[in-house]
Parts: sequence; C-alpha cells; structure tokens
Amino acid sequence: MGHADYLALVDPDTAFWSLVARDRLSDAMGDGPLLRAYRRKAAAFAREMDLLRFGLKPSAVYFNPTERCNLNCSYCYIPDGMRSGGNHMPRERLLDALQRLKDYFKRTLPAGAVPQIIFHGAEPLLVRDSVFAGIDAFRHDFRFGVQTNATLLDDAAVEFLAERDVSIGISLDAPGRAIADRTRKDWSGQGVHGKVLEAMDRLRGYEAWSVICTMTRENARQLTGMVELLHRREVPTCLMNIVRCTLPPSREVKPADAPAAKAFLAALDRSYELYRETGRKLVVGNFANVLLAILAPTARRLMCDISPCGGGRCFFAVTPSGDMFPCSEFIGIEALRGGNLFRDEVEQVLESGPFQLVTGRSVDAIDPCRRCAIRHFCGSPCPAEAHEMNGGMNRTGAFCELYEEQIRYAFRLIADGREGAYLWDGWDRGTKTTFELGGR
Ligand code: SF4
Ligand code: SF4
Repeated sequence: MGHADYLALVDPDTAFWSLVARDRLSDAMGDGPLLRAYRRKAAAFAREMDLLRFGLKPSAVYFNPTERCNLNCSYCYIPDGMRSGGNHMPRERLLDALQRLKDYFKRTLPAGAVPQIIFHGAEPLLVRDSVFAGIDAFRHDFRFGVQTNATLLDDAAVEFLAERDVSIGISLDAPGRAIADRTRKDWSGQGVHGKVLEAMDRLRGYEAWSVICTMTRENARQLTGMVELLHRREVPTCLMNIVRCTLPPSREVKPADAPAAKAFLAALDRSYELYRETGRKLVVGNFANVLLAILAPTARRLMCDISPCGGGRCFFAVTPSGDMFPCSEFIGIEALRGGNLFRDEVEQVLESGPFQLVTGRSVDAIDPCRRCAIRHFCGSPCPAEAHEMNGGMNRTGAFCELYEEQIRYAFRLIADGREGAYLWDGWDRGTKTTFELGGR
C-alpha cells in the first residue's frame, strides 16, 4: 500500500483486512492471535459479504422522465438521437409510474422503509411541472432526488426542491470556463459553465446538494483546482467520477489510468489540506464510499465498487416509455432492456435475462480480477463498459489502476488515522465493531 511503517493483509474472499507493522509481519502471519481470532470470525464475515453481494433488494429507482436534454455533453451515456429528439413522459403517465413503483416497494420492502426516486438524465427539469407534481403527490412515499445539469435550476426550482428536502445533484467538470465548456455544452456548442456557477450561488447553504465532476482527459489536470472551487463555494459533497466508457464518444475523452489516478489522489490531498486549514470538509463521495467499503462494508452508499454492482439488484432505471434497465448506463442498449413498467410486473423484470446478465456478473469469474486481493473493495466496474467496450460481461471495465491506487491511498489514510477527515460526519452512526485486536 506504499506506507513506510505498515502493510495491509487482506483476505480477498471476505474483505477482512488488518494493518500490520512491517517489523511484525512474521508474527502476524504465524499461527498467532490475529489468525486465531480471525478464523473464529471468518464464517460470519463471509456471510456478511454474501448478504451484501447477493441478498439485497432494490430500494431506489433512477427515473428518467424525458429522453431529451438541452445539452450535448461529449461523454453522455444516452444516445444523442434520443437526447435531441426523444420523448417526454406525460404527467399522468409519470404519476401512474410512481404509483406502480410505490406498489412494488410496498410488496418487497419492510414496513417503514422509504425507497428513493432519483429523477435523472437526460435533463429532468425539461419536464419540471410533471416532476414537481410527482414529488408533491408522493412526498410521503419516497425520498426524492434530482440530478440536473443545473441550467434550468432557477430560484423557484431551488425553493420548491429545498422546501421538500429533495437532494439536488448538479454537474460541473472544471473550475474555469475554458476546460469545463469543452465537455459540457449545448447543441450549438456553447458552454454552460456560467449558468452552473449561478445555480451554485442559489444552492449555497442548502445541506442536501452535491456536484458531480466527471473525470476525463480534458479536465484531469484541473481536479485540484476543482476541489478548491467547490470548497470555496461551500459544496457539502462532490463526486469525482471517472468517465464511463460505455459509448464510443466517451472513449474519445478517456484519460489513461495512471495520470487519472495521480490527479485524483492529488485532489484528495488538497481536500484534506483545506479541511485542516478551515475545519470545513468537502467530502469526495465516491472516495468516501471506497473508505466505507474497507471500514464498514455494509454502510457503503454507492454500489459501483461491489460485485455484482448495484445495477438491477439495489436499484434499476426507468425510461420515459416505462422501459426498465438494470442501470442508466444501459439505456438505449436494446439487449439490456429487461421489460416495461406499464406492461410487466417489476418482480418479473428483475428476473429477466437482461437483468440477470448484469446481476450475474461476478468479480469471481473475471480475469484477472478473480485473483485480485482488493476485488471486494473495487468490484471490477463497470459491466456496461465490459459489455460494450471490452466484449462481454466476463471482461474487465475501462480502468483498473485507478481503483488500485485509491484503495492503497485509503489504507494509508487509515494507517495514519486520518480517514475521518474524508468521511461524512456521523458516518459510523448505526455501525458496530465486530472485530478488534491490538491498536495503532
Ligand atoms: S458499475 Fe456501471 S452498471 Fe453498475 S451501478 Fe455502476 S454505473 Fe451502473
Ligand atoms: S479492476 Fe483491477 S483493482 Fe479492480 S478487481 Fe479487477 S484487478 Fe482488482
């Protein structure tokens, strides 16, 4: 893991790990207290990992109320013909869809559990009246979120969403106009950086908002500046997601693994420095999730870095026509369409061949991931890339070194006792210690 004093020992099957001082390695590997204590717990850890990987039920839906978008970003996973001339979901149809989802979750989730609906891209605020009507009609049945490009997020929209505690995710790729506008622009080629900054001003002070920055070849060197901008503007959480290379246009802006990892870790370093200087955190959510995968596997919030991933088993995606896909990444790929919300039972769609293709993709059957020590911290994402870019579900995705490097980085932080600075306050609420031996 690249630490001067500690080595990480990992049991790849259970994701159990221990940090061992370099000069104590032979003690740890012998038949001493660590291995004896671990053997007593190993079966329970294996069961927990199994439950996380195979025992969860969907509790969220990525709901696309329109195929259209007012932008034409270069890496978008939705085919451009759909985004430029696709369909909106009529209001009555949207309300009907939410009712069907409510009925489904009532059948499957324990009493009191509140599932999540995230209105997602293309651009959901193009059909704002329908979306807002849905939020009002079902506000006691779902937790709502809206993922938007922010260009239509005016004062009235922010007020409506904030009053109802709707989480708001917006997209921005770089601190300066010149780079940000290379990937995110409208159909005439005009960038939207200025409009996004205006929306960020409106959101300042709201707790439940975040910024997604998609890492590409264009902005890799801007990530540290991006962290500075987001921190300065008091953004509570950001995601710095590597571009998904599912469709050919997004591969045009794919960065190489090693420089992407270097830039990402430098940005994480900067977020730590800013926290030390100001006492205020900017949580980089996707990295925080990797830390959680190590520290408290079942507390993780995102489901790309576990295998099978969350697509089709923790959540699914619904399009404006009601078509259901395991994840938004598959929208537009006919072979991965599992059924239709208006014609089929959700339970049947979840069992369909296309869904099983994704939910059945296991890191244990992928070379070289099946021999990788950190396979349950990484999960070998993403099945959409594996299928579309690399030729099949039993292939790897587009990046490996990036995941390796961030997991090494995470272990170094844990060894130094700095992990809390990268996590949400209260991240461990509801967790419990199941194994403890020795100390730092
Ligand atoms: S790994 Fe890919 S398919 Fe799976 S949840 Fe993440 S984006 Fe979706
Ligand atoms: S993608 Fe790389 S880091 Fe992830 S499981 Fe596979 S070999 Fe390991």
